[in-house]
Amino acid sequence: MADEDELVTWGGDGYPPSLRPILSRLGSSGTATLDVDQGWWPLLRRLDNDIAAVAPDYRITRLGEDLGVLDFAVASGDLTDEIADIIAGAQTESTGTCVVCADRAWLYRQGDWLVTLCPDHARARDARPARTDADIAEAVPRPTDQELAFALSAGVPGSAFTAQAQRANRAYVHASADADEAEMSSWLTSTAVARLLNTSPDAVNHLRQRGALVGGRRRNGRYAYPSWQFDWRNRPIPGLQTVLAVLAEDDDVVGISALMTGSWEELGGLSAAHWLAQGLPIEAVLRALEDSERL
Ligand SMILES: [Zn+2]
Repeated sequence: MADEDELVTWGGDGYPPSLRPILSRLGSSGTATLDVDQGWWPLLRRLDNDIAAVAPDYRITRLGEDLGVLDFAVASGDLTDEIADIIAGAQTESTGTCVVCADRAWLYRQGDWLVTLCPDHARARDARPARTDADIAEAVPRPTDQELAFALSAGVPGSAFTAQAQRANRAYVHASADADEAEMSSWLTSTAVARLLNTSPDAVNHLRQRGALVGGRRRNGRYAYPSWQFDWRNRPIPGLQTVLAVLAEDDDVVGISALMTGSWEELGGLSAAHWLAQGLPIEAVLRALEDSERL
């Protein structure tokens, strides 16, 4: 929308007039600041409109950014389930919105910070995709028992920590979806698999549907296929369908892929995919899978 673009590219002094209602809810002194970057201003204005529609005089007690997620709270007297839902919706939207330009975004790590950026702005800031548990764990300072006890004795409600944990969890879910997407981006498209197998993309779809191949659905809606499923002759590895049937309970295709390509002690240090590709007995793989805690 044109007037949303206007917010994102606003270069004037102070704040654009359409954000004044939000500023007035933040403080009475007239010195309030919006501690979120311009890419999020449009969603912030929509959030304000939506809350004001049900609570015209509500007050904002917290506004900022935390772990790449919009941090927003209203005065406890104004908080209803409906408003909590509206805020949660805006927070979810913020995790996919570049803080600079409002384009489609993912979670990145920039130095010690987690920040939500589009790929272009991530590159410009030299940020890298935040995709590991370690990224999240390092960026989320969890209160120690002592800190928690002190905070509670000082009157900080325990729910403040729950809220923090919920935000951290959202960031985590978002980051692991990013990791899956990053992994799948290196897999084969249906067209590429069709070329390998000398067949049509429709036939590849059909093979996946009946469990002869495994593929994961990417954000663009298209399926991607890990290449370990094919041997050096570009044929599906022997026993693939049988192994996939054992793993079928698991709809985490990235997890299945990691399981099939990891080194197994039971298979003399080979991966299950490599073992099968060499035509070694499938029974050993099935036994290893059955014994595995990993299933
Ligand atoms: Zn951007």
